[in-house]
Amino acid sequence: MQKKISLRLLPAEAADQRTLTDLIAATAAVPSEQVNGYYITKQSIDARGKQAWVNVTVEAFINEPFCDRPRQPVSFAAVSKTAPRVVIIGAGPAGLFAALRLIECGIKPIVLERGKEVRARRRDLARLNKEGLVNEDSNYCFGEGGAGTYSDGKLYTRSNKRGDIDRILQLFVQFGADENILYRSHPHIGTNKLPGIITAMREQIIQCGGEIVFEQRVSELIIEDDRLKAVRTNRGDQFEGAAFVLATGHSARDIFYLLHQHSILIEAKPFALGVRVEHLQASIDQTQYHCEKRSEWLPPAAYSWVQQVQDKGVFSFCMCPGGIIAPAATAPGEVVVNGWSPSKRNNPYANSGIVVAVDQKDLYKADPKDPLSLLRFQQQVEQKAFSAGGGALVAPALRLTDFCEKRLSATLPDCSYLPGLRAAPLQEVLPDFVYTRLQTAFREQGKKMKGYYTNEAIVVATESRTSSPVRIPRDPATLWHPQVKELFPCGEGAGYAGGIVSAAMDGERVANAIAAVISARMLK
Ligand SMILES: Cc1cc2nc3c(=O)[nH]c(=O)nc-3n(C[C@H](O)[C@H](O)[C@H](O)COP(=O)(O)OP(=O)(O)OC[C@H]3O[C@@H](n4cnc5c(N)ncnc54)[C@H](O)[C@@H]3O)c2cc1C
Repeated sequence: MQKKISLRLLPAEAADQRTLTDLIAATAAVPSEQVNGYYITKQSIDARGKQAWVNVTVEAFINEPFCDRPRQPVSFAAVSKTAPRVVIIGAGPAGLFAALRLIECGIKPIVLERGKEVRARRRDLARLNKEGLVNEDSNYCFGEGGAGTYSDGKLYTRSNKRGDIDRILQLFVQFGADENILYRSHPHIGTNKLPGIITAMREQIIQCGGEIVFEQRVSELIIEDDRLKAVRTNRGDQFEGAAFVLATGHSARDIFYLLHQHSILIEAKPFALGVRVEHLQASIDQTQYHCEKRSEWLPPAAYSWVQQVQDKGVFSFCMCPGGIIAPAATAPGEVVVNGWSPSKRNNPYANSGIVVAVDQKDLYKADPKDPLSLLRFQQQVEQKAFSAGGGALVAPALRLTDFCEKRLSATLPDCSYLPGLRAAPLQEVLPDFVYTRLQTAFREQGKKMKGYYTNEAIVVATESRTSSPVRIPRDPATLWHPQVKELFPCGEGAGYAGGIVSAAMDGERVANAIAAVISARMLK
């Protein structure tokens, strides 16, 4: 008999296979020897009460041979030498998943990436962290795997298209991710594991006849009769294709300017702006698990909150338990922070973006017709943060209660941000409508989460690359740009995704649309 069994377990019980087998047997009212095996289909932690519980659902095999989790690996066959060629600009999750899907459809992808392959990219990240030097083509946002490679690798999405999400997670497993991402309620890969997975994807693309060309920044578009014919790179090379996927991410400001110069329609898009706050992980564990010390069977605790303050949403963003605050600037003279964590989440700090929704109405004297107004505003705040830090990516920061009291901190606590911190008046960095809402939200959150509102926590500016401040429109039926056929805006930079999974899903969606256009042409 194959039986689905749901259990509510103590963390230690959930971690022990023998105990779990006994509990499955007890629930099924059979001796343990009759449980031939099981696999987990769902797992979540319920830490609302004093005692934390692990909710587990398993598929158990009782009195019948164990048969492991069904797997349907995607088989990628080599594309033919005469296959149509599609150029993909950007090797982030959107670009890579588009490339893999095109291969499945028998189309040859040529991926152009401004940055370096994962290993070489690591050296540029070291220079960012140690020397405060930004390489404009190779940093936490640019390079193989995109902004996702050296990220936290959280794989949750607000999308509810379960089939599409499961397919993306299955593909991550196929390329080397742990199977637990298939059943955990908050799946997470970790920065240390992502580069290997991205490398496996690259090898698959190349093995099937696709190409990935590094250190080629697309800097010109060749448009004839409202059709994109070719793109040219900073090295002067020209690439032609039957279609072009523009998957350059939310930080490729030069691409937004390039489209605007060509009078290709782009629109200002609301985004969110704020700070990253860092606590000791132990204090977040105490609050979330209602205990003095986290049980060794529980993962470092996370939190997520949202508040309405004066008609605007203030919310936590990309919370990284056991994580690091990273310098995510893409050009010199800007300070941008973000967060990542390793798979074990075993750093002593817990950081999270705390951000306020921003739209054009918030900008003083913004021209509503200017599609780049929010982008410029975002950049100005990042530049103010750089000046306040004093250079070399030193970030301006305050202790949390000092931030709320508008007091300059006399000292700063230890922090995971490697380029260094300087106490600075953040009210001179952040716009007033953001600062005042953050003050209120932090105080309110302190009433709900014991230990949250403390001067031992630190507020670091500025968290500004939460999503793209620009949208590149696309025709809802064909998915190409309404003015430029063959140009398919894709992923987070174009405004169709907000995270790794949704960017990957959008890459697949765009690839499917391109395959449909190409096959329709072939039938003509
Ligand atoms: C530090 C950090 C942590 C994050 N943590 C998480 C997380 O835990 N979970 C999550 O879901 N999301 C996380 N994110 C966000 C996530 O990485 C992005 O949402 C996702 O990568 C977007 O995918 P994309 O393919 O649309 O764009 P990107 O990943 O931004 O990829 C765009 C690619 O295009 C390339 N490119 C840009 N311009 C050009 C050009 N002119 N020519 C050629 N190539 C170009 C870039 O180099 C880049 O590789 C994090 C981001 C950062 C920076």
